[in-house]
Parts: sequence; C-alpha cells; structure tokens
Amino acid sequence: MRAIQVKRPGGSFEIVEIPTPTPGPGQVLIKVTVCGICGGDEVCRSGLFPGMRYPRVPGHEAVGTIILLGQHVGSRWGLGQRVGVGWHAGRCDNSEACEHCRRGSFFVCTKATGTGLTADGGLAEYMVADQTALVAIPDALDSIQAAGLLCAGLTVFNAIRLSSIRPGDTLAVAGIGGLGHLGLQFGRKFGYRVVAVSSSSAKEADCLGRFGAHVFVDASKEDVPARLAELRPKLILGTSVDAKSITALTPTWPSDAQLLILSEPPTATLEIPYIPLLFNRNSIVGFTAGTSADAEDALRVAEMVGVEVQTETYPLEQAEEAFRTIRAARYRRVIVLDAAITDRE
Ligand SMILES: [Zn+2]
Ligand SMILES: [Zn+2]
Repeated sequence: MRAIQVKRPGGSFEIVEIPTPTPGPGQVLIKVTVCGICGGDEVCRSGLFPGMRYPRVPGHEAVGTIILLGQHVGSRWGLGQRVGVGWHAGRCDNSEACEHCRRGSFFVCTKATGTGLTADGGLAEYMVADQTALVAIPDALDSIQAAGLLCAGLTVFNAIRLSSIRPGDTLAVAGIGGLGHLGLQFGRKFGYRVVAVSSSSAKEADCLGRFGAHVFVDASKEDVPARLAELRPKLILGTSVDAKSITALTPTWPSDAQLLILSEPPTATLEIPYIPLLFNRNSIVGFTAGTSADAEDALRVAEMVGVEVQTETYPLEQAEEAFRTIRAARYRRVIVLDAAITDRE
C-alpha cells in the first residue's frame, strides 16, 4: 500500500510502499478514504513522545471503511461500516490489570497510546485499529467533515462540556485556526456569549459571520488583557501555539475563571503570574481530545447543531507540503485518498 512515513526523529513525511497490515484479535482493517493533517502531527515528527519507534505512519484523524475483521470483534462493528480513528488508540478493558479502566478513566489507560505515535496512523491507504478506538460516523456527516472533527472538533467540544461554564456565561476563544473556528461555533450553539481573540484582522469577518462570535478582539491592535478584564470570560480556550500570547491571557479574569490550554506551545515552559490565580481562584488546565465515545458525541452534536469545518483538501503525495505550510491553513487540512470523495466546496 501507499503510505506516509516518518523515518526518524526530526524526519519529514515521506511517501513509501509498505505491506498492508493485518488485523490482530480485537482489531479491524480499514480502507482509509480521508485523513486530516494537524499541527499535532509535529509530535510524531519531533520524536518527543515517550516510547516512540520509527519508522511510523502518522495520521490521527482518519476516516474509512472496515474491510476485514480480526478475531473477537464485537457486533457493534461490521464489514462496510464507515468509521473514524482519532488520537485515542483504544483501551485494554482489563479492569483487573488496569487501574485506569477499573475506574473508568479510559483516556489514560496505559494501552491508550496515540494513533500515529505508538501505533501506525491513517496517512495510508489502509490502517489497522483496535475496536475500542473506533468512532461510528453519523450517515448525514460527510467523511471530510468527520475527519476535521475527530481531533480539533472533539477537543473543543469535550473541553467546553467538561468545564463549569453555563449558558449565558462568556466564552473566549483565543487563536482562530483549526481548533478556534470550531470552538466559536460550538460555543455559539451552546448558548454562550462568544468572544474571538485573534491577531489576524483578516479573520474578523469569518469570526463575526459564519463562526458566530459576538465580539472580535483584534490582538494586533487591542490590549488583550484589558479587553478580557472588561469582557469577563468564564472560560478561555487557549488554542494559540505562541507562548507569549497564552501568557497574555492569564492576569485579569473574573473569579473562578479557567484557562484551558489546548495546543502545545513551542516552548516547554510557560511563565504565568500566579497572584491572580490565588486571589481570583483562577485555574489553568491542560486538555487533550477524548475517547472514541467522546468523539461519537462530538460528531453527532456537530451534525445536529450545524457546526461546520472549513477544509482545504490535498492528495497523499502532498502531505509534506500540507503540513509544512499548515500555519497558512484556512482552517483544517485533509488528505483525500479516495478519488470519489470531493470537497463540498
Ligand atoms: Zn489533530
Ligand atoms: Zn486499561
């Protein structure tokens, strides 16, 4: 099969021909039709993830069809079924051996390693996935949309629903890219007053228009801490990969407000003024995607309320270019492997 591989830490996306994998017990073989490209793929390229081995097929936003079932696959999954696979590569389900599964914390199960990190991912014509990693896709949702929602959509959806924000509160979304444009839409549909914070004036019309923000704060011209102090967000989704702009979100919130950091800044450390944390009882929390069941909820809700991913599509051969220039994406990039699938736009 044709696949993308990262051959060594610091390597790029190379197109290769490798044997099609065989599903083991509890696994399925998927014919991949589309797979998103994401800033998170840098984790596969950098080699910073503990326990990574190379060569590795990246891709944690895969959608395709089940074409072969391994032994002991449950009746929930069948041949010809359209499924997705996100970051979460599955769980062991062995409550006697795994304290995480015993307590229902499936996301941190030690088997829950990362798709495209410790298991080969979806930037390939075929991939093997554990049945506990599979995401059923609503019929009404097309595959390109589903791929765009499996990582960024799931992350913002889960981050919002697991926080203590309530309808009527103010939600600020800082950084309007792949994560941010979906955070604004979910926030609007969930009944919050939505504030977009972006250093790109060119995104103002999108934010206030199709993404549904009520307020646009232009970080290239306005004093972001002062504006946030005035707007009083209860929850801030920090999607920027720039450490300085994340730090600028921290000092001036209402009491009990939370900053969720959703994407990795390029520096390993952040400098945070801690006095406001004490006196305002503010908190800063890191958050990543969710389980396959969480992803099913995210996809179903996105389809139900009309959250739409803005996508640009590329063929597999251009995966390296699509990744290298990802900062210029508007707003998600998706690799299409099946010529029968075309972008609706
Ligand atoms: Zn991703
Ligand atoms: Zn487990």
